[in-house]
Amino acid sequence: MRTPGFFCLLTCRVMTKKERYRFVIDWFQQHVPNAETELHYTNPYELLVAVILSAQCTDKRVNMVTPALFERFPTPELLAGAMFEDVEPFIRSVTFANNKTRHLIGMAGMLINDFGGEVPDTVEELIKLPGVGRKTANVIVSVVFDKPGMAVDTHVFRVSARIGLTTRAKTPLQAEQQLVAHIPAELIPLAHHWLILHGRYTCLARKPKCSDCGLTAVCKYYATDMKHLHEGSAGQ
Ligand code: SF4
Repeated sequence: MRTPGFFCLLTCRVMTKKERYRFVIDWFQQHVPNAETELHYTNPYELLVAVILSAQCTDKRVNMVTPALFERFPTPELLAGAMFEDVEPFIRSVTFANNKTRHLIGMAGMLINDFGGEVPDTVEELIKLPGVGRKTANVIVSVVFDKPGMAVDTHVFRVSARIGLTTRAKTPLQAEQQLVAHIPAELIPLAHHWLILHGRYTCLARKPKCSDCGLTAVCKYYATDMKHLHEGSAGQ
């Protein structure tokens, strides 16, 4: 039987970028057709709050604090009128709670004053909000408005580079530009979740689970760094 490693020997060195993207997209479409955010929310305002809280924190932790936070501050109006002391206790267990408290109150105030209380639908407008960088803005436009925004977090950056979807990207913006140039616009919101979930559960930062991964046939990192390890352990 031909293993993924066998196909890699035949294809990795000569595979074009277009073919690599095609393989990866096909694989994810087949195996992870319904990828979505793991943050809990019921409307755009709640997702914006949750994504701000999730910076350098786990979705699991954020999901533990948001039910009580959303119950106490169900609208941007109520959050905008809150004092630091009113909000901070709700998110104390999240990383950088002090900064995030200020960002949440400031973000809600700007939503009320500049955007009529609605979450804006463009990256350019979203990044004006306190606590909202390009990554957060792309999450909002893709998840809420189904626009082709590719949010590049640490997982997307690492997995894309390892597979070979990006080449010599030095910054998240460079990675975003390369990914957006090759992935069909209608699939970008889904592709963002594919890459995040793959990084979170399979292509782990310290020890990628290549033996559980269906992308070994096209993965550059596997071909150069991991293949010999797996072949060595298989023969023991
Ligand atoms: S083969 Fe290994 S390094 Fe490549 S994407 Fe899969 S888990 Fe990551």
